[in-house]
Amino acid sequence: MILRTHYSGDIDAELDGKEVILTGFAHEMRDLGGIAFLVLRDRKGLAQVTLVKKLLGKEMFKSARSISRESVVMVRGNVKAEAKAPRGYEILPTEIQVLNAAQVPLPLDPTEKVECELDTRLDARFMDIRRPSVLAAFEIESAVLQSLRSYFYQKGVTEVFTPKIVAAATEGGTDLFPISYFEKEAFLNQSPQLYKQMLMSAGMDRVFEIGPIFRAEEHDTRRHLNEAISIDIEFSFVDDKDVMEILEEAVAGAYRYVAENCRYQLEVLGLDLQVPKLPFKRITYSEALELAAEKAGVKMQWGDDLDTETERFLGETIGEHYFLTDWPSSIKPYYTLPYEDRPEVCRGFDLMHPRMELASGAQRVHDYSQLVERIKGKGLDPDGFEFYLNAFRYGMPPHAGWGLGLSRLVMTMLKLENIRDAVLFPRDRRRLVP
Ligand code: ATP
Ligand code: MG
Repeated sequence: MILRTHYSGDIDAELDGKEVILTGFAHEMRDLGGIAFLVLRDRKGLAQVTLVKKLLGKEMFKSARSISRESVVMVRGNVKAEAKAPRGYEILPTEIQVLNAAQVPLPLDPTEKVECELDTRLDARFMDIRRPSVLAAFEIESAVLQSLRSYFYQKGVTEVFTPKIVAAATEGGTDLFPISYFEKEAFLNQSPQLYKQMLMSAGMDRVFEIGPIFRAEEHDTRRHLNEAISIDIEFSFVDDKDVMEILEEAVAGAYRYVAENCRYQLEVLGLDLQVPKLPFKRITYSEALELAAEKAGVKMQWGDDLDTETERFLGETIGEHYFLTDWPSSIKPYYTLPYEDRPEVCRGFDLMHPRMELASGAQRVHDYSQLVERIKGKGLDPDGFEFYLNAFRYGMPPHAGWGLGLSRLVMTMLKLENIRDAVLFPRDRRRLVP
């Protein structure tokens, strides 16, 4: 049995004079004496329920007026055009039920009239998500995923899941969360990289995975969390340039889908979403260094990773999404393929939003011996990668792919200040609850 007949956002001229049943939260009560307005909120908007003492009778009027804010209510009533009501319609109730009363006081104000510290909001996240602008971001995130999935399916890509409990690091290093796994040492995986590559050797040809990645880095920034959702693809028989095209189409397609399908949410966020134009600019790492030196006087050595300041400067100068390509082999992971004629440069790329990195990808090394050399060259022990290296011994197609951070895509799309606004229950250095 579905309790409601409509969402508040569905109410329009066609329903004028008809009976509807709405369910949601008691967003606000404005009491003017003989008349009161109960604003009901559901995920598609607000509806004004007009309580008139003369129409409802004394008892019902009294009990309706005393409904505590954020209680869960069901309202049966008739739709009536009313110019002064939000969206032009009010509900004249014939029945009001409190399905579950909210306690007072509330941990925070879901009407968004009172500003609130991020920590307070995250502590009472269930209540925070009731705020329309907070909820809007998550509804849009779901639309982004829907758009990406349908794009991949349309390209003939197979959706896969790889393990999150693993025995070895993807890239070596210390950024792993150890877990206890019976009598063995295990870790939470920092990336599906090695597994999606093994699936190329398995003949799966084109795979994508949307799942969590875990990074034990102690960063405290607005764009890093210790658990994040990554959108990963790996394609056989393509090169880095091909998967860059897939990436820009996927990103622009997500913007287009949100612009067309999330009008209410964009309105709540006050956003006029501009779909980025294709193709994105491509600039090489060397060009980026020159630009930074020439225009901002930032002097960097070839081989340095781009610092946040340089990234910010490039973002401001370019002003739209762009690809950074042709990175020094020394600062990209061992699985990134160097150019044959200039091995100090590799076929790795980053997709940048003016505010931050969104994705990293590359043409991969697919030759066994070269991969072993690259692993050794990074000071890692190939023995630790046997399970992975075995997949390169018996026929590995040339392949390329990328990993895109879901929350960074959403946060830049919606101009959110902090990645925590794009994650339901963020995990950072200080937060493990709720
Ligand atoms: P950064 O340099 O910004 O720390 P990265 O280069 O370490 O990122 P990759 O390993 O390239 O990250 O991961 C691919 C994508 O996954 C990133 O471009 C980013 O969008 C996302 N991502 C990686 N680490 C995090 C994190 N700690 N929090 C949120 N998103 C992340
Ligand atoms: Mg990266």
